[in-house]
Amino acid sequence: MIVNGYSYKNIKKAANFLKKGEPIAFPTETVYGLGANIYNKKSVAKIFEIKQRPFFDPLIVHIANLKQLEEVAKIEDERIYLLAKHFWPGPLTLILPKQKRISYLITAGLETVAIRMPSNIIALSLIQELNSPIAAPSANLFTHLSPTTAQHVLKQLGNKTKLILDGGKTTCGVESTILSIEKNKKPVVLRMGGLPIENIEKIIGKIIIPTKKSRKVLAPGNLKNHYAPQKPLIIINNEKEIPKYLKNNKQKIGYLAFQKINNKKILSDYKILSSQGDFKEAASNFFDYLHQLDDGPAEIILAEKIKEVNLGKAMMERLIKAAHR
Ligand code: AMP
Ligand code: MG
Repeated sequence: MIVNGYSYKNIKKAANFLKKGEPIAFPTETVYGLGANIYNKKSVAKIFEIKQRPFFDPLIVHIANLKQLEEVAKIEDERIYLLAKHFWPGPLTLILPKQKRISYLITAGLETVAIRMPSNIIALSLIQELNSPIAAPSANLFTHLSPTTAQHVLKQLGNKTKLILDGGKTTCGVESTILSIEKNKKPVVLRMGGLPIENIEKIIGKIIIPTKKSRKVLAPGNLKNHYAPQKPLIIINNEKEIPKYLKNNKQKIGYLAFQKINNKKILSDYKILSSQGDFKEAASNFFDYLHQLDDGPAEIILAEKIKEVNLGKAMMERLIKAAHR
């Protein structure tokens, strides 16, 4: 059931479900999450079951304050406070050594835990009302498109979750940037996301960007196929390549363009991420438009390559995974 997430009565209701061990869905600024109380193992296990997510894929712990940061992780490096000061609340997840009280179910057996302070008022209120951090992956089925509206959650999870707090369309629109920080070592990015790497480097200096292969080892669950629509998705360089797909296959084509489309007539469906060419606007529309193209009349989705700067890196990373079959 979808309910208004801005109503305190509903936040209390959601917190009560969490207290009873029932996972619920809520908005963050990145995507909608499916949350459970981190101290209720059964409830955390239910998340994996609902999402059909494999147990080797660890969850992100969402916190509302710095007290909870130290409750969850060991802070052995001053740079963590610097990052918190500049980027929290916001779309940055830190991989840190876990405290004993954090179960291996959450961390998939690792000694480290992923932590983030979301900037969405509903998410923060929910954590405060529960008075405990919330473990939450995105509220979609494993490998499917991430949800950026309450309706996307309902479409995929149906009545498998008792409550969906509706906070409208998420503002950031792509998952958090994941950064691993180890004492006396250069930070390593494990996933491109809603906070551009360029912004982080301005604060803590050079960040290591591992090859895709080694990133898969460093971040379990970093699979090749992920964020995928149900229809085939192909990445093309630009609009000029569209006729090739029309001629060969006579297919109904849906097109995801970055800024503009010159010849809309040959398309069955299309979406333009940002007519202003703004990366922030594009990222906030990204998953929503993929959901719409997936639900629309097209048989295949062609997606235009996005320039890999700023949030373009996060969007391209997701397109490549969506295109992988
Ligand atoms: P999601 O909740 O779907 O946004 O995905 C969370 C992702 O964070 C996982 O799929 C992992 O790739 C990454 N992650 C979570 N915990 C850890 C950890 N302890 N070490 C490395 N990567 C992690
Ligand atoms: Mg996810």
